[in-house]
Amino acid sequence: MSHFDTIVAPITGLANAAVAIVRVSGPDAWHIAQTVFGPWPESPTPRAAHFGTFAHGDEGFALPFEEGRSYTGEQTVEFSIHGSPASVLALCQACLAAGARRAEPGEFTQRAFLNGRIDLSQAEGVRDTIEAETQSQLRLARLHREGALRNRVRAIRERVLGVQASIEASVDFSDEVGELDKPEALAALAQVARNVEELAATAETGRILRHGLRVAIVGRPNAGKSSLLNALLGTDRAIVTDVPGTTRDFLEERADLGGIPCVLTDTAGLRETDDPVEALGVERARNAAAAADRVWYVADASLGWTEEDARQHAALDRPCLVLANKCDLAPNAGFGRPVSATTGAGLSDLIATLAADLELSPDAPAVNARHAASLAQALEGVNLATDVLRADRPTDLASVGLQQASSALGAITGETADADLVDRLFADFCLGK
Ligand code: GDP
Repeated sequence: MSHFDTIVAPITGLANAAVAIVRVSGPDAWHIAQTVFGPWPESPTPRAAHFGTFAHGDEGFALPFEEGRSYTGEQTVEFSIHGSPASVLALCQACLAAGARRAEPGEFTQRAFLNGRIDLSQAEGVRDTIEAETQSQLRLARLHREGALRNRVRAIRERVLGVQASIEASVDFSDEVGELDKPEALAALAQVARNVEELAATAETGRILRHGLRVAIVGRPNAGKSSLLNALLGTDRAIVTDVPGTTRDFLEERADLGGIPCVLTDTAGLRETDDPVEALGVERARNAAAAADRVWYVADASLGWTEEDARQHAALDRPCLVLANKCDLAPNAGFGRPVSATTGAGLSDLIATLAADLELSPDAPAVNARHAASLAQALEGVNLATDVLRADRPTDLASVGLQQASSALGAITGETADADLVDRLFADFCLGK
């Protein structure tokens, strides 16, 4: 099956740990195991752990996989050894001396793809699983790993290819198959366009889940923005003082709020100022609010909703969630959502609303930027073909659009991805993946 050489790399990183795993994959994997590990049984039981000692002096397990039943699809051995960099490097050296080559970053997963074990979207799911910091990222990555996007994209591509086949048959063999059934072809293309648009519509959710929901915390000086950031992070990240105007730049922090990855931005207090440094901070605060997915306008409940709040809030000119902070001092402020950075009151409700209005569907394989770009190309091709068919232009012109659509869809799964794209994608992976 495989025409590759045999590669080796630690798949658990190089930090000190109780256990580390070194993977050897390729046609000589078992042969190399025999050299570096013993006792290596004459006929090793696949997917069963064999205890023994290593040539470099450590002891541990060898876990052999037969061709076709491993992560890469190739004959593989995974060695569990003590997780010191010294032991890991010595074992890798021994494998190199026995004929293996050092694996490139992402090469194991690239082989899994090239051997047909997984498609590109599943490989991206593997990468996202490894990089996941929150439960929602883990869930999304799993959907991709399980092939949820691959299945949908393949089904859509099949339909495109079906229409393309009937167009080409009607052009080439019109005597036998007759004229193209245009209403049928148009209906199929309308269905394709709908499906592509549905997937493309998940790009926003995908961006938020992968890179974080950008939440800007804005408001007048001393409203408690920095305190709120600290309370949400559970640390003293931002400086809190009762001197107005201390936050002059903005501060960005990643946080997992109720399973949603967020990038929280604490900003300079909004007010008129003659201080040029503070004015720059205020401008940055406004820009942060403009660029954010959500804006929390924090006002001091003990002062009430002041004219200045009304002015600053209106100047932002976009929907904001108004928070009446310091509700411990004034429980009935009469505006906004009561919270207290000091006591933590209202914060869990605030986090719950974040998730509630995101409408993150647990079974939608939300697409990433690469998928979204291909989907846009696919839609363009489908629309082109649809226009040709509707306008009664020669039907073979529609093939051009469908060709574009099927090749764009195939790039998502990797069926039509060129070698450059595949190399670039896997080069993004870390060593040992
Ligand atoms: P910022 O300028 O908007 O970032 O405000 P800070 O976070 O620096 O807070 C200004 C002052 O308000 C500090 O003295 C905080 O201790 C106080 N403060 C912030 N949040 C609360 C709160 O929920 N309750 C009370 N009682 N005081 C708060």
